[in-house]
Amino acid sequence: MDLGIKGKRGLVCAASKGLGRGCAEALAEAGVNLVINSRTEADITRTAQEIADKYGVEVTPIAADITTDEGRERVLAAAGQADILVTNAGGPPPGTWTDWNREDFIKAIDANMLSAIALMQALVPGMMERGWGRVVNITSQSVRSPIAVLGLSNTARAGLTGFVAGMSRQVAGHGVCVNNILPGIHATDRADSLDKGVASKDGISIEEARKKRQSGIPAGAYGQPEDFGATCAFLCSQQARFIIGQNILLDGGALNVTV
Ligand code: NAP
Repeated sequence: MDLGIKGKRGLVCAASKGLGRGCAEALAEAGVNLVINSRTEADITRTAQEIADKYGVEVTPIAADITTDEGRERVLAAAGQADILVTNAGGPPPGTWTDWNREDFIKAIDANMLSAIALMQALVPGMMERGWGRVVNITSQSVRSPIAVLGLSNTARAGLTGFVAGMSRQVAGHGVCVNNILPGIHATDRADSLDKGVASKDGISIEEARKKRQSGIPAGAYGQPEDFGATCAFLCSQQARFIIGQNILLDGGALNVTV
């Protein structure tokens, strides 16, 4: 399917690997010229080169921490008048609800709520003026079904979801579609580190921890960043113009609900 976005300009945050990279690759395949970001210079430079070589689009790497004002400024300066924005950042660490203090909450809210909001505030007005834009926020299944050990994520992402629910309807009339994708477990470094956490907590091997987590997924396996990226690219397509303020759950059926 031609997504109709060839030649558009996109910014994908936290994209040297994992879900962000999956989104960057799918947008590049659709012909979008990209600015991509992550903190580790060697990784983001290599990823940018690989994507540019594979898909023949322009890919500009910016090594910066997207959760800081200074990092976002540099990323936004490179992104210019982006038509497409994919917000993403590393997830907060696991723990227990009694352990987290104010600092921990502020850090999680900065990373997984306020950074995405700041990026939208910077780029969406230009999209509205030009009459076309797409925003996809990478959140988490924890928005629909809380994950006990990831209370910081449950909290921050719920805040972002509430913001998007209201804001997306205010910008839709200007041709800008804002939506969230909620990943269930996907085979990335983040999933590996959570597998390790389960293994050490339950005193089992990492393989056993992975099998245990997979057993809760009706599709029978972890999701793949490529499939996640394809969903993101579709939400950024011309054809997605009627999808507004939605929370698309990609979890292999793990959440056992009717609607
Ligand atoms: P990942 O494989 O660990 O990749 C994270 C990417 O983000 C890397 O490119 C990393 O590069 C970059 N990054 C991290 N912190 C950053 C920051 N402050 N500024 C800029 N770049 C940053 O993680 P993932 O699995 O793709 O997860 C992406 C998001 O989805 C996370 O918020 C995660 O919590 C959420 N999520 C993932 C899953 C899953 O199963 N994978 C499920 C639910 C939710 P550098 O370290 O070099 O910056």
